[in-house]
Amino acid sequence: MKYEAVIGLEIHAELNTESKMFCSSKNDPFHSEPNKNICPVCMGLPGTLPVMNRKALDWVIMSGLAMNCQINKFSKWDRKNYYYPDLPKGYQISQYDLPLAYKGFLEVGGKKIGITRIHLEEDTGKLIHPKGEDYSLVDFNRSGVPLMELVTEPDITTGLQAANFAQELQLILRTLGISKTNMEKGEMRVEVNISVREMGAQSFGTKVEIKNLNSFMAVEKSVDFEIHRQTEILQKGGKIVQETRGWNEDKRLTFSQRAKETAMDYRYFPEPDLPPVEISQEWLSQIKSIIPELPAERRTRYKNMGVPANYAEVLTSIGISGDYFDKVVRICKALNARSVANWIVQEEVNFQIKPEFFGDLMQLIDDKKINVTIGREVLKRLNSSPEKSPIKIVEEMDIRTLNGANELIEIIDRILKTNSQAVNDCKKGKDMAIGYLVGQVMKETRGQADSIKTREIIVSKIASGRDD
Ligand SMILES: [Zn+2]
Repeated sequence: MKYEAVIGLEIHAELNTESKMFCSSKNDPFHSEPNKNICPVCMGLPGTLPVMNRKALDWVIMSGLAMNCQINKFSKWDRKNYYYPDLPKGYQISQYDLPLAYKGFLEVGGKKIGITRIHLEEDTGKLIHPKGEDYSLVDFNRSGVPLMELVTEPDITTGLQAANFAQELQLILRTLGISKTNMEKGEMRVEVNISVREMGAQSFGTKVEIKNLNSFMAVEKSVDFEIHRQTEILQKGGKIVQETRGWNEDKRLTFSQRAKETAMDYRYFPEPDLPPVEISQEWLSQIKSIIPELPAERRTRYKNMGVPANYAEVLTSIGISGDYFDKVVRICKALNARSVANWIVQEEVNFQIKPEFFGDLMQLIDDKKINVTIGREVLKRLNSSPEKSPIKIVEEMDIRTLNGANELIEIIDRILKTNSQAVNDCKKGKDMAIGYLVGQVMKETRGQADSIKTREIIVSKIASGRDD
């Protein structure tokens, strides 16, 4: 029997607004002093009233648009009722049936993954369990921090796809500048819903939830482990237990945390203290107008410029290198984008170097005024003195420039004449000897000659017997 996995993700991301979701307390959940950024509103004291953070609304609408979602013209807030020591109000303000965004998709690795919804809610406080003590502490600095929740359709089938989706989402949220999304800090939290069923079956298998995954690697490995575990149970005729599982990084396996026999009833009802959110066409247009270039658009633009896909990927995912690349090719239009990308991705480049200076260096190499070896040396010097012109650096390096092919041929002739033993070895087919001769020419020209061209000339001269 063949089995297939059905996987959906629930991802939370803390938005990095100045203030919290419903009050003016500072949004700084990692403040070293516990319970520093709190007020009666985020502590849920009686008689207080929440006020919406407009920026957080803007940002979730923006991320919805960035991920091809429909935006609800009429959205509202709901209370999700439950008690936990990190939730002083006894309920969380969230969105139940009318989320800000719905029905979108993200293309990851050539596959379209549906997005069911994106909504806004508030984060809870944090419990701290001091080691060896018989009590717990609560820090409410995180209470009321704006939290975006995204739910995908069960379109994912492998651990790699799940990790890639989360990574692309992180890149989008960072590009929009709305969340820091560090997984190890809990600024972005990925939960996986996963079940396995017979290939082609219509109904879903029993669902298992994996929580507390704090890296993309953990997402990928835990999903793959879980697919394997569930498939094995089903093959042996066993039954999957509906439960929440954690991921043990050291042992590389998932483990049971708690069984989930019945769904929690949160008794959702509309939040009476907040008006619904009506999103006008003007509001939407205004947000649309400030969406920056998205990662997928950037990759495509780079590919259209002739940048190889793997370099386009690096320049996109490390935004600072992409921004630098863009500046260099904008200023130096004559340059070959592919080789500029090559240098920025492959070499260590100090982005303090003026883009026009970096462009000058590329131009020196393009014009064959210096070769790649010398270019690297110039870059090294530029890295430590980014305010210095590479043209000046080359002058100071006092390297003889090879004025065209004639000079190179003269040097090669001289080298061949003074190394007759190596030339004879070459004639006998010893490749090592050619390498030796090329090395001599490079030495003579202080690394200035083009080694490939030099090799070609030597081979052709020896083959034609003209070693004089
Ligand atoms: Zn507050």
